[in-house]
Amino acid sequence: MKAKMYDIGIIGGGTAGMTAAIYGQRAGKQTVIIEGGTFGGQITSSPNVENYPGIASVSGSEFSMNLLDQAVKLGAETAMEQVTGIREENGVKVIETDGKDGKEYRCKSVIIATGVTHRHLGVPNEERLTGAGVSYCATCDGAFFRGRDVAVVGGGSTALQDAEFLSAYCRKVYLIHRRDEFRGEDNIVKRLEGKENVEFILNTTVKEIIGNTAVERLILNNKKTGKEFKLEVSGVFLAVGQIPQNEVFADIVKLDGNGFILAAEDCVTSHPGIFAAGDCRTKEVRQLTTAAADGAVAALAACKYIAE
Ligand code: NAP
Repeated sequence: MKAKMYDIGIIGGGTAGMTAAIYGQRAGKQTVIIEGGTFGGQITSSPNVENYPGIASVSGSEFSMNLLDQAVKLGAETAMEQVTGIREENGVKVIETDGKDGKEYRCKSVIIATGVTHRHLGVPNEERLTGAGVSYCATCDGAFFRGRDVAVVGGGSTALQDAEFLSAYCRKVYLIHRRDEFRGEDNIVKRLEGKENVEFILNTTVKEIIGNTAVERLILNNKKTGKEFKLEVSGVFLAVGQIPQNEVFADIVKLDGNGFILAAEDCVTSHPGIFAAGDCRTKEVRQLTTAAADGAVAALAACKYIAE
């Protein structure tokens, strides 16, 4: 039996990937979205999205479910598999996955929309205590810390949102940031300032996480005074940014020094017919809106490539 040929193979089921599927299907193309983790990507763990135009407030999981529903209703196929590579075979792009018997998807064009993953702090005991007080997802694990004292590390929107989310459950939330200013949204900073159970610990880094079978305390370092001090917490939520995971594509598209796929606003990569959309590509602004915009741009570019 001849293997099915897809018009657009989309790697990654986050906002960029699912928007690409919606645009592709609406342009009459058969798409398949291949996702190795959770459909929705990063935004699923956002408790409240308040900066998507036209939607005043929506949970990240509801936003993701709506996107997936929209793409599937338009006819996009989905697969829950980890992509292991892409090869070019007689003008056909073959997406290789870890699916049963080395599953492959033959496509006329490909959109890589793999997003980014959580950056680790790289401090002692971080890996050992992950799942035992160390977490990278406040919405997933926050409820385990009801009535307890926790810390959030980071100064971006994720850290601010996490601190706000946790302040509803926890007795005390310490927000630890290495600078004296946050880079995340000002209006959340203002809301946090008004909360009695939130305390900012600025100009401070985490030196070590201490705990036998679970997190017991942090060893912190004040960068201004050079003084070390202890902070007793049962949980620490790390929100120190994200890194790409594009190694499996390094032999087919060019990456920059930080591992992002080299592609400009047109989403065109170094390999004809392969496009990169969303946070996984080189770009200035990594936002939900720009991920969605990339999904549309990449899908329309893929349609044009197929037509030509
Ligand atoms: P981010 O904006 O890159 O912020 C990462 C934070 O971690 C920065 O404050 C950074 O400090 C700090 N950091 C990095 N490495 C560190 C280290 N080794 N030790 C201590 N601190 C460290 O990451 P993000 O907050 O995850 O946000 C990523 C993107 O998603 C952003 O564009 C953000 O706006 C977007 N986002 C959107 C929403 C939404 O609701 N729409 C929600 C969350 C995130 P410095 O400031 O000193 O560099």
